[in-house]
Amino acid sequence: MFHPLHVYVHLPFCERKCGYCAFASLAGRRDLHAAYAAALVRDITQYCTTFARADIFFVWQSLYLGGGTPSCMAAELLAHVIDSVWKNGRCVAPMEVTVECNPHSLSARWIRTLRAAGVTRWSIGVQSLAATELTALGRLHTPAQARAAFAMLRAQHCANVSVDLMYGIPQQTTATWEDTLREITTQWQPEHVSLYALSIEPGTRFARYQQEGGHGWHWPDGDAMMDWYWRAEELLAAQNYARYEISNYARPGYAARHNLAYWDTAKEYCGFGAAAHSYCQPAPAAPRRRFRAIRAPGEYIRRMQAGQPVRVCARALTRRQSLGEDIFLAGLRACADTRAVTRRRHLPALAPHQRRAGRPCASTAFWRTDSATNPGRFAILLRAGHYCADPARD
Ligand code: SF4
Repeated sequence: MFHPLHVYVHLPFCERKCGYCAFASLAGRRDLHAAYAAALVRDITQYCTTFARADIFFVWQSLYLGGGTPSCMAAELLAHVIDSVWKNGRCVAPMEVTVECNPHSLSARWIRTLRAAGVTRWSIGVQSLAATELTALGRLHTPAQARAAFAMLRAQHCANVSVDLMYGIPQQTTATWEDTLREITTQWQPEHVSLYALSIEPGTRFARYQQEGGHGWHWPDGDAMMDWYWRAEELLAAQNYARYEISNYARPGYAARHNLAYWDTAKEYCGFGAAAHSYCQPAPAAPRRRFRAIRAPGEYIRRMQAGQPVRVCARALTRRQSLGEDIFLAGLRACADTRAVTRRRHLPALAPHQRRAGRPCASTAFWRTDSATNPGRFAILLRAGHYCADPARD
């Protein structure tokens, strides 16, 4: 039996920890790179082999190498990991294979090696084109390096590039945010843009700065960030970027297949590597679950070498939880592509009187049934509510 599966591979290494970062990433542990890549290959091979023994063969739908900073690892190590994915399943053509990279660690040779390994999509962490903001974030690159890195991707014939940007950065202003967006959308013209709102996570340098009084910085408030979000949407729409998920915008035909799978609960993805999350069957006879791998890269390597399990926190979803995920993932976060899945999967379960009672809410465009405030309530989102669905605004 052939089974479709999206694959995420986590590369948890960076040169330095950014001030806001709460991701599973280790700074400066180059000594672990090779052992980690070997552990990944073993993990991928073991997982697929277990399913192959039960006559289940994977058909890869997309592959995403994220981090961390994959571009701080040797291209050959990443190519080896990608190769293990090819060896353990079949591909759909044309296959979307994304790798994340950061401007300061990108090289033409690295790009060429990964393109030869099968990478088709490049996601570059630019964040801002204002030097003060990059410095505040603790990023290692300058605006000039970001421009040079993007130009290098284009010079290497990378035709599907996504640019990550952030808003809500300390010291950011409306003018700097718009300048960054304008340059990216009118001059660079990547195929895809992701916008991330800065959030202050416990345990980060930024959390400490705020506790200590703000570090002498201006911290944009929520109202400013909301304004910037809307402004970004206007500027992006004017350059033919359509929003297909709460943070993601793409030119026609360039919505990331891998991203869409996350918001479509009918699709499965398997995460390999430390802290990687999955939504699939952990074993051939097991039901589909959400689970993740242990967070510490060193422990992940040790366990893979010792033949011990690395996946934890498996939980099966009740039907009610599954419905909630459909509403909040497919309905609130994503747009039309996943909406159809929500309707197909759950509308038949509604009683006729519930379907009749559905009514559109003008500003947020979701439907509520007459039982919306009662136990057993059922809400169907017909269109993404990227501005939180709040019936009080009607
Ligand atoms: S580059 Fe990304 S993953 Fe690495 S420390 Fe900075 S924000 Fe975190």
